[in-house]
Amino acid sequence: MKTFIESFVCDDCKKEFPLDTPVTICPSCGGFLELRYNLAEMKRVVKKLVFDDRCRSIWRYRHLLPHVDEANIISLGEGCTPLLRSVHIAKETGISELYFKNDTMMPTGSFKDRGFSLALSYAKQIGVRRAFTYSSGNAGASFAAYSSRSGFPSLVCVEYIANDAKKAMIQLYGARTAILHFDSFDEITEMLKGAAEELKLYQFVNFVNPIRHEAMKTYAYEIFEDLGRAPDVMIHPVGTGGGLWGALKGFNELTELGFTEKRPRMFAVQSEDCAHYKQAFDKGEKEAGRFGDATKTIAQSIACDAPFQKGRRVLKAIYDTGGAAMAVSDEEILEAMRNLAREGIAAEPSAAVSLAAFKQAVHLGLINSGDTVVCVITGSAMKQPNAVEKAAGLPELSLNANVSDLKRLLKETGM
Ligand SMILES: [Zn+2]
Repeated sequence: MKTFIESFVCDDCKKEFPLDTPVTICPSCGGFLELRYNLAEMKRVVKKLVFDDRCRSIWRYRHLLPHVDEANIISLGEGCTPLLRSVHIAKETGISELYFKNDTMMPTGSFKDRGFSLALSYAKQIGVRRAFTYSSGNAGASFAAYSSRSGFPSLVCVEYIANDAKKAMIQLYGARTAILHFDSFDEITEMLKGAAEELKLYQFVNFVNPIRHEAMKTYAYEIFEDLGRAPDVMIHPVGTGGGLWGALKGFNELTELGFTEKRPRMFAVQSEDCAHYKQAFDKGEKEAGRFGDATKTIAQSIACDAPFQKGRRVLKAIYDTGGAAMAVSDEEILEAMRNLAREGIAAEPSAAVSLAAFKQAVHLGLINSGDTVVCVITGSAMKQPNAVEKAAGLPELSLNANVSDLKRLLKETGM
């Protein structure tokens, strides 16, 4: 199969690096690397969005992804998740074209599987022999599942604030797990930079690894396939921001290839306890600094007090598309979990932020009644069982095992 990638290019110093080498951040200046495609050649050759219609995973779009030989593909059936149209929230808000991209349905219960399927397959292709990442929990479980299946020895550093269920899942998949202690996310950034420069360690951390977010382009492809058009608004939770950045790259390619003229306005959502993007966006700044306390919020998977590379990619995606940075409270998140559950989706807090932000955006007039809106729901409620208990609405009832008590209960509940 033909590949259209030309080189890695650095966001900051613009230097180029050859393909098929295990580079992570820029060896020259430490900036993030991006894969550059020959889009003109891609447009000339690629005439259809789907490469293989029988394939029900992200690999159905393999001609638009970095090349991996069939034998090196590590897949658990990730991607091709449902795009569910809202029944209740759409009616209540008057936004009739509201959709949920339900990535709770992924093999390990979170959207991270898209990135790890591609990044670990690519690593196998170029001869990487060991796997290392750092995670707030979901990425760790996904990484562990894919690296175990592929036979990579793997080490996951997981944040001390991750809940026990996430840590246990990483260990269940067979990865060595180290609990990572730190005072600020700046320390993690420095550690990862040192690991790349001094230890020459090939890492799978979002953006430090230049391949993972390429897989998030499949959001754009799947949504476009399901809707038959690009949405007007896409709302995505952001920690590092790889999902949002990759999705926009996918929509950019769809426009370059002539499939659509429209790109969605990208809305990035954080917890208000550590909303550095929101703080920068409100001031019109292109870089975000350290802000807030990541240990406070219930939205653990996106809790971060200082973004990598000052969050330049996420802010650029927002500004370039006329989107917004949003911040939501724990109370709004718990309400969004209940509202999503009414739609049939059990989401973890960090995933429910999309719907919480949607409601805010409607209230603020940032979304119009004719807009088609996609809220990305990134992870399953099973990832954070204690949050489910907090969000659960109605109190439990009690019943003795006899018909007369059942009759009483039916009457009491009005059924
Ligand atoms: Zn550079």
